Amino acid sequence: METLTLLPIPEAGRPAAEAFVADHLRHLICDEPVSGSPIRGGQRAADAALAAFDVSGYASDRNQVHPIDDRGASRLSPYIRHGLLMLPQVWDQVDGPQRDVAKFRDELLWQEYARHLYARLGRRTGTALRSQPPEHGPAAGSPTSVDQAWRSTLPCVSANVDELVESGWLVNQARMWLSSHWTVRHQRPWSDGEDFFFRHLLDGSRAANRLGWQWTTGAGSHKSYGFSRWQVERRAPGWCQACELSSRCPIESKPADHPRRQVAKPSALASDPDLARTSGAYATTRSPDGDAGSGPAAEVVWLTAESLGDHDPALSAHPDLPVIFIFDEPLLDRLQLSGKRLVFLVETLAELAEVRNVELHLGRPPEVLADRTPSVTFAPVPGFRRHLAALPTAVVHPWPWLVPPHAGSIQSFSAWRRGVSR
Ligand SMILES: Cc1cc2nc3c(=O)[nH]c(=O)nc-3n(C[C@H](O)[C@H](O)[C@H](O)COP(=O)(O)OP(=O)(O)OC[C@H]3O[C@@H](n4cnc5c(N)ncnc54)[C@H](O)[C@@H]3O)c2cc1C
Repeated sequence: METLTLLPIPEAGRPAAEAFVADHLRHLICDEPVSGSPIRGGQRAADAALAAFDVSGYASDRNQVHPIDDRGASRLSPYIRHGLLMLPQVWDQVDGPQRDVAKFRDELLWQEYARHLYARLGRRTGTALRSQPPEHGPAAGSPTSVDQAWRSTLPCVSANVDELVESGWLVNQARMWLSSHWTVRHQRPWSDGEDFFFRHLLDGSRAANRLGWQWTTGAGSHKSYGFSRWQVERRAPGWCQACELSSRCPIESKPADHPRRQVAKPSALASDPDLARTSGAYATTRSPDGDAGSGPAAEVVWLTAESLGDHDPALSAHPDLPVIFIFDEPLLDRLQLSGKRLVFLVETLAELAEVRNVELHLGRPPEVLADRTPSVTFAPVPGFRRHLAALPTAVVHPWPWLVPPHAGSIQSFSAWRRGVSR
């Protein structure tokens, strides 16, 4: 049995959030000193970022890497990742030139596709590739060696690694460059690179991160994404001219598309044997005897890191109940995330504590919640299902999908897209 710890409530704001992480969560993070990202946590910051986002030019500029002022990407992903902004809300609120809105919404659908894939296959997304690159490169293993392996290469690579580590965020194009450089050109194990991203990204999710890495290797399209000089010249003008390797650029031409190992596809990629489980459609009130709708009343709202915003269905259904957030100590100990991610979460929770009665715990969710009936929003990730199954009672609210999961093929984005209604 783990030790259960009730943590104090931090003051709102960056310095208090950093001090809280340093004092209570330092043993769970991979970097020192504890410092927050330029991207702030909290509902107010999320709402401000959405209100400030101008979609005009998004279609042509979303992949711009440098200079920063030319970037067209929204940088909303940390808020979307942690449910401070829900996909249906972002979909409805974006307004502007039709071409840009269509492209932006298409990317929201990629996020939704990643979530459907993960909700259906869970951990099998790590192995359910149609094909994998041959993994004969050096196994990197530790966060430091992945970091070093990346940085010791090229300025256009290390600049992006620096940004990832210092800010906890990267534009999509930079993620494609790094993942291609790692796994397509150097044939290194993609799961080491995936883990490194997951550790440092504020928006790091097994769903979208894994899909991104697999997409780079060509898992969904039979063709890998090759990163080479011409993309840098196009998307980061000036970098190549300033580079000391410019006249002997080691990525002048595209990397070879190495043959990939074929892996057996799980049948669940073609059709869903249990759609209710995937979508959380069973998620109504669960009582000890399993009768839907007849369980005990909720005593507390349980917020998870998937859904921390004012629009969380469980939170808004019970405006008078206390709110619990649990830093899952065994999980965080295993993941060793960057302190930036935890500062982001603490900023969010401290802001919520200004208007709600919040309890913060360090421990395992089923143990913290063992004696209380929580009201919680279904989260389409395997860890949530496991914790929920271990609780004697819970009132479960449906996850606000952008499009409801279907039982048809999810073998590729386009196969999945054919089955959705948007
Ligand atoms: C190797 C690799 C790893 C990635 N890891 C993650 C991750 O851990 N978490 C994550 O949310 N996204 C991940 N992505 C997808 C994408 O790069 C980010 O969602 C995007 O860069 C976030 O920045 P933004 O909010 O400015 O995106 P915008 O371009 O402004 O898009 C708006 C939103 O659409 C969604 N979106 C955009 N592109 C994608 C995409 N290709 N796949 C899925 N959703 C998308 C995101 O929710 C994003 O916030 C990864 C992509 C690659 C290639």
